[in-house]
Amino acid sequence: MSKPQNIALALHGGAGARAGRDYAQAEAHLAALCARGEALLKDGRRALDVVEAMVADMESSGLYVAGRGSSVNKAGYVELDASIMEGGLPGEDAPARRKAGAVAAVAHVKSPIKAARLVMDETPHVMLVGRGAENFCRSRGLEFVMDPARYYTTPIGVTEKEMLEDELAHGTVGAVALDASGRLAAATSTGGVFGKLEGRVGDTPMIGAGTWADEYVAASCTGLGEYFILAGGAQDVASRVRYQGAELGQAAQGLIKDVGRQGGHGGVIAVSREGEIAFAWNSDGMKRAGVGPDRPRFSATM
Ligand code: ASP
Repeated sequence: MSKPQNIALALHGGAGARAGRDYAQAEAHLAALCARGEALLKDGRRALDVVEAMVADMESSGLYVAGRGSSVNKAGYVELDASIMEGGLPGEDAPARRKAGAVAAVAHVKSPIKAARLVMDETPHVMLVGRGAENFCRSRGLEFVMDPARYYTTPIGVTEKEMLEDELAHGTVGAVALDASGRLAAATSTGGVFGKLEGRVGDTPMIGAGTWADEYVAASCTGLGEYFILAGGAQDVASRVRYQGAELGQAAQGLIKDVGRQGGHGGVIAVSREGEIAFAWNSDGMKRAGVGPDRPRFSATM
């Protein structure tokens, strides 16, 4: 009888968590979501579908700075970014089978991660931005936010004043998974950083920076995106494993050290093809949850 394949899942709700704040609601949400994702993976569902479902749920929850909980840019409106990626199956012509999709600076799409998945599945492109992305989403019947001023709310537990004054309070969401067929996937979605300039795009929708999945590692980042772009981001974690033979946890720490050396802060979650999961951050905390073959399901912030 062949050995059953490992499955693994890790989630983050942003590395903007600060000491002294109560994150019980987000932790309970992440724990329940993780249990749902674990069940889907055990049921044989594709990692790509699971990470999309996990991120879409976080986007609509209003608990994080993504989707519903996003805050306005300096021009006074919300701009959202997201990306999704699937690695090739080990054994096949793997790098040629990688797939990715992303949207940036969309203002009315209810679920940016679903938009990113549509770009991946239904266009020859990897990223669409702004008006073109919205027109494409409309043509595919994606749900739109009709009244952004009413729909987008400050994430629960954070005041509007804190959001605008404290650039530390970022709360991107992300998911990485390994499915029973051995395929890895990653997804990330954000409302960006508070007080950003109109048109600013961070690491989240950039494949390689905010999100990466190949045949070795899937990773999703959160934090001040400019530093993650400069440090090489999610792909750097996979490259450390692939070319340096680094252990997954060391690879994740390595990226965060490089981000810190530049004066940046944030975190990363990662999963390997063996089913290891890793979390690294240099901010006060990172809302997170995970489950793997060697790790019982958990959720935590600090
Ligand atoms: N990385 C996101 C960005 O720079 C923000 C975050 O993770 O909270 O847009």
